[in-house]
Amino acid sequence: MDAEAEFGLAVVTGAGSGIGRGCAQMLGRRGFAIAALDIDESAARETAQMIESAGGRSRGYRADISKAADMDSAVSAAIGDLGMLEVMFNNAGVLDGYFNVDDMDEALWRRVLDIDLTGVFLGCKRALREMLPRRRGRIINMASVAGLNGTGGGAAYIAAKHGVVGLTKQMAVAYGASGITVNCVCPGAIPTSLRAHSQSILGPGVPDMSGRGVVVNEDQVRALVPAGVRGTVEDIASAVCYLASKEAGYINGHSLVVDGGWRAK
Ligand code: NAD
Repeated sequence: MDAEAEFGLAVVTGAGSGIGRGCAQMLGRRGFAIAALDIDESAARETAQMIESAGGRSRGYRADISKAADMDSAVSAAIGDLGMLEVMFNNAGVLDGYFNVDDMDEALWRRVLDIDLTGVFLGCKRALREMLPRRRGRIINMASVAGLNGTGGGAAYIAAKHGVVGLTKQMAVAYGASGITVNCVCPGAIPTSLRAHSQSILGPGVPDMSGRGVVVNEDQVRALVPAGVRGTVEDIASAVCYLASKEAGYINGHSLVVDGGWRAK
């Protein structure tokens, strides 16, 4: 990508909190105009306000990424407000309560797959409508170490994140000759409000997620992660900014693990 393209529009889904907000802020500092999309509109607007207060250009939009019409109208509005789409970061996601198949109910399975995998597909599809005719663009998808290992989530989360890794590879092959790169990031344990947000987005009927999982307390983090500590949203944002940068132009179909060595074990 040339210098002009580096300062185009970056759409970040799930930008109202955690990793998405941190990535939106860092991409904003790098010069991208930022469309902050979230199911929580006021959180999305708050992120945009933070970016604008720091001297960047940003707008917040409401979108449930599992709904094609929401994705379409938010991305269209962002292009109208902020310019041509250069980077699509499909970040939004929810946890699944860490349930194994035998105790996962079908409705929970479907909703988690709808958000964590179909939501990424819909974001990619919407981005390609802009990127393919121009033969340029960067798509970055949010996977997880749970997209590579059989731990770090329950059955639906792990299946969805493995799906994101597979989708990323398939798209890299399909669009590699079209000037578009498609990569994903695989974070380890990052402190965010993912449990609380997942609980409230999935709604009533979803069992309590607090206290479940493999990295609930610091002893577990020390036992699992060679670095001995959790990562930060800035650790992930650095990786995302790299994949969005001119320097990463020949990286395609890659799963960039940022986990303090967890997966190396
Ligand atoms: P978070 O809850 O702080 O942020 C997620 C944001 O996504 C929230 O603002 C939420 O409102 C939004 N969101 C959820 N469902 C949505 C939907 N259907 N439509 C639009 N917005 C939606 O959590 P986070 O940890 O920052 O998670 C971001 C991504 O990182 C997720 O995909 C998660 O699976 C992934 N991830 C997180 C970790 C971690 O340790 N925190 C590790 C690996 C991967």
